[in-house]
Amino acid sequence: MKISSDFDSGNIEVIDASNPHQVLLAMRPDLKSHHFQWFHFKVEGLKQGERYGFSLTNAPQSAYSHAWTGYNAVASYDQVNWFRVPSSFDEKGLHFSLEPTHEQIWFAYFEPYSRARHDWLVSEALDKAGAEVVAIGKSIEGREIPLLCISRNPNAKRKVWIIAQQHPGEHMAEWYMEGVIERLQKGDDTELDALLQKADLYLVPNMNPDGAFRGHLRTNAAGKDLNRAWQSANDTETPEVFFVQQQMRKIGVDLFLDIHGDEEIPHVFTAGCEGNPGYSPRLEFLESEFRQRLVAVGAEFQTQFGYPRDEPGQANTTLACNAVGMAFDCLSFTIEMPFKDHDDNPHPHTGWNGARSKRLGKDVLSVIAAMVDRLR
Ligand SMILES: [Zn+2]
Repeated sequence: MKISSDFDSGNIEVIDASNPHQVLLAMRPDLKSHHFQWFHFKVEGLKQGERYGFSLTNAPQSAYSHAWTGYNAVASYDQVNWFRVPSSFDEKGLHFSLEPTHEQIWFAYFEPYSRARHDWLVSEALDKAGAEVVAIGKSIEGREIPLLCISRNPNAKRKVWIIAQQHPGEHMAEWYMEGVIERLQKGDDTELDALLQKADLYLVPNMNPDGAFRGHLRTNAAGKDLNRAWQSANDTETPEVFFVQQQMRKIGVDLFLDIHGDEEIPHVFTAGCEGNPGYSPRLEFLESEFRQRLVAVGAEFQTQFGYPRDEPGQANTTLACNAVGMAFDCLSFTIEMPFKDHDDNPHPHTGWNGARSKRLGKDVLSVIAAMVDRLR
């Protein structure tokens, strides 16, 4: 049996693989950071009819140790179809086992969105969705961060921004972006046509390519949490945020969505700007309408579960959602999807996955289309 993680978004250390019934593993922390929770590895040389067991022994010390309860690992024999493997958590780690039906298998924290697929997605946006590259930022390690614009009416007044995967382990975020870009390729979409008469879309499919490639959970290659850097971004430690902020100041923002995944809460939810200085009844009304419409379009979304609301004036303005909402006095949300499942509509075989993240991205476009006239 051979275990490897020396590939895009790979992350595992083998502690002891001498007993195939209980292979002991550990997750590697993010570079220059103590965070870890993401794992992704390949196992080869499996024999059919045998049961193999794996333990992530440092799961109790991970960034969100409470999140392992109720979580099931994902696995795939072909890197296309991912399924959940029943898992259990105790003080010795996260444990899962299976009898493989193929000689090799991949395990991950969530269905991975690869850098190769990212490159394909950008080319699809350019070739089939009519997107243009407005500017290209560079990560610390020199990976490209394209800012895409979809503009179909030169007189469109509104600027709608969607950015994804500031937290590199939250791969559902770029799956969401694939849903957005896929819908932009479809003809005969009256909702989308109406939206694009009035608004230009600005998309950053992956804000943290270094972290994603390195198999990080939380930070970029300098160990910085990009979603805590929106009041202090600079060209050396957080160039990814610095780039997007420069472009936002140049272009303007009328609606901002920052796409994330949440380790603990088994629901899709939004976090808004209620704690921002300057938060107004206008923004409160827009937030409420956005949430109600997202439920009404039949999206996998709910308003009961989520983060505790910020007290007035007590928002952490280093977060993108709060910083952008405050700077541009606009509707601004963090959208959170689960690593586990959306318990309002559970799918035990897959849990929350790439396909459902894509669907949500498409559904949110319908809500933006319905609200575009009232953003200002
Ligand atoms: Zn996040």
